[in-house]
Amino acid sequence: MNSRAEIRLSDVVAAQSRIATFARRTPLKRSMELSRRFGTDIRLKLESMQDTGSFKIRGAANRILKLQAEKEIKGLAAVSSGNHGRSVAYIANRLSIPATIFMTHLVPKNKIEAIRALGAKLVIHGNDQDEAELEAVRIAERDGLDFIPPFDHADVIAGQGTIALEILEDWPEVRSLIIPLSGGGLLAGVALAAKKINPEIKIIGISCTRAAAMHESIEAGHLVSVIEESSLADALPGPIAMSNQYTFRLCKDLIDEMVQIEEEDIARGMQFAFRHERLILEGAGAIGIAHLLATEGRFGTDSAIVCSGDNVDMDKFLTLI
Ligand SMILES: *Cc1c(COP(=O)(O)O)cnc(C)c1O
Repeated sequence: MNSRAEIRLSDVVAAQSRIATFARRTPLKRSMELSRRFGTDIRLKLESMQDTGSFKIRGAANRILKLQAEKEIKGLAAVSSGNHGRSVAYIANRLSIPATIFMTHLVPKNKIEAIRALGAKLVIHGNDQDEAELEAVRIAERDGLDFIPPFDHADVIAGQGTIALEILEDWPEVRSLIIPLSGGGLLAGVALAAKKINPEIKIIGISCTRAAAMHESIEAGHLVSVIEESSLADALPGPIAMSNQYTFRLCKDLIDEMVQIEEEDIARGMQFAFRHERLILEGAGAIGIAHLLATEGRFGTDSAIVCSGDNVDMDKFLTLI
């Protein structure tokens, strides 16, 4: 696929079989409590159950396995606020390919430890994703490593889109999809596939209020840069790269509704998931639930919520609970 080609439903379908040995088909679980409270069917897509604790394994596996079919990979490089790096490290480990993961100073300790445990080399560089990415691209070029982008690549987007195939197979009547939004690879892939299967499906993109670059760019109608800030949903804040090729345009076209969630509501979402669903979710993973609770289900008719990850620092989590 060349860099500007359109991503088709067939790319997503091809990704599904390609990544099957790395990414689980996760359950779509009915939330009894949310469904009861809001008088409609609410189901949770549990991407927190992936081996790496987040959906990022889908896009990374699709990109890496496609590359591997084309050439011999000397080594992999990735920049990550945690979950993407962990997925690249995990896949590299299983394929016996060396990986170097670049991170900013804002990455939480639990995510660093998870990556080290997978045998990847870690480089902490810069104060935001853009700075870390410049360094990663420089080293990748110097050392002949393949750089795996976290969201803005057709293969990564197609990989994340496999979530939509599973949701629509399990629940063809679903009317809206509630999706966490940061760089937009997750939302672009899921929305693209879902709307090609059923154009009536409503796409709701959820950001935190801090450093929500995609949200602010879509509102402004052009790419804007943000100052990186930390959030309880640490997978979400950060820039979307001024050279963005795919996700800005796709998200702008595919999102029907955009919402930002306050920090205390993210905490409520995590508490709710634990208490009522017996789920441990990181902030980004619980932000869709947080949205329903904060708006009292206003947008929640027959909705599937993507619970995107569970990589939360356990001490922080227990304090919050
Ligand atoms: C990366 C990530 C997101 C956001 O995905 P984007 O493709 O960057 O929009 C949401 N939740 C979790 C847990 C993540 O790791």
